[in-house]
Amino acid sequence: MISKKMEALGIKKSVIREIFEYAKVRKAQIGEENVFDFSIGNPSVPAPEIVTKTLTRLLTETEATSLHGYTSAQGDAGVRAAIADYIQKTYGAPADASLIYLTAGAAAALTIALNAVLADGAEEEVIVFAPFFPEYKVFTEKAGGHLVPVPCSEPDFQVDFAAFEAAITEKTKAVIVNSPNNPTGVVLSEDSIRRLCRILYDAQARYGHEIFLLSDEPYRELVYGNVKVPYLTAYYDNTIVCYSFSKSLSLPGERIGYLLVSPKAQNAQEVYAAVLGAGRALGFVCAPSLFQYMIPDCLGKTSDLTVYKENRALLLEALTRYGYSAASPDGAFYLFVKALEPDACRFCETAKKHELLLVPSDDFGFPGYVRIAYCVKTEQIRRSLPAFQALAAEYQNRRG
Ligand code: PLP
Repeated sequence: MISKKMEALGIKKSVIREIFEYAKVRKAQIGEENVFDFSIGNPSVPAPEIVTKTLTRLLTETEATSLHGYTSAQGDAGVRAAIADYIQKTYGAPADASLIYLTAGAAAALTIALNAVLADGAEEEVIVFAPFFPEYKVFTEKAGGHLVPVPCSEPDFQVDFAAFEAAITEKTKAVIVNSPNNPTGVVLSEDSIRRLCRILYDAQARYGHEIFLLSDEPYRELVYGNVKVPYLTAYYDNTIVCYSFSKSLSLPGERIGYLLVSPKAQNAQEVYAAVLGAGRALGFVCAPSLFQYMIPDCLGKTSDLTVYKENRALLLEALTRYGYSAASPDGAFYLFVKALEPDACRFCETAKKHELLLVPSDDFGFPGYVRIAYCVKTEQIRRSLPAFQALAAEYQNRRG
């Protein structure tokens, strides 16, 4: 007998990956330029030059055995010191090298954090704001917790604070925030963060135990205009940051990120010990070493974000003109668009006939919408516009 739970997860792939795989087949059939694949958050702009320069320097100047050898389980001490220093200087927020754990991306950081903070066998609850990144459910349940989705308000997709307060119970152990957000692109304002943290401090006092704020932030640097993304260790003590270089440096396949326990967290040393234990139990020790050593020179650097900005403006303007409605996103590289019929899966099937590959929102815990990942070549956006227009026209004709 094998694990039926794991088998089920393996058979029912993430809907995003399913569409991504379909896109590959379809592109082989009718040509890449004829398929408008908006399925996956794979950055379309190359990594910045500093990444190539740093990697080249490391590969030519460092002794191979030390470059490719194991580091400490939690990552190289010098790299962790550079990250802590960068956070203190950039955000004026608490950070300490001895409480940082380098990971294979935000995904590993999240699973480690959840396994560390959820008490054994207690079936504690993890609140997420819907729509949410679908893997939160998989990670939470594997760590022995229950996911409690709290729908955001429509049409702005901000936190519904009344619903949030109502969802907190004695069993609440963690809240995941993801700003800038996948799939809506929404960035939580400083006011929203302060309000959210006040509610959490009250709840901690009421129930007499800690509630962790897990900040999932692979899109921290991907913001448009003068939008500020508050650094959460400055607002709430029991914070764990799950950061990734996947999107900021266009390196999703290299699997590099980190987890940071706030030095102000209650029993921070014990929490970090649980992080070390979870990393060990999950086999997430020693994140890819070459990419660890790349970090110090690349902190605060990003790929050319102007491409996403242009894509976002182009798409938002055209879709609005064709009659679609979307949350106006301040960050990330997604548009969350209302489907033109109540069943988003059926809508996506219709869109497929126009070679538009969109992701239905059901798995994000918020039915009735589609996610468009606009981290694609601007040329693809331009070529896809007639298809979006024809799709809207098809629904207008149906309504007659
Ligand atoms: N969290 C969110 C909200 C994401 O969108 C993603 C990836 O798309 C991840 C986590 C995982 O990122 P990583 O590639 O760093 O594991």
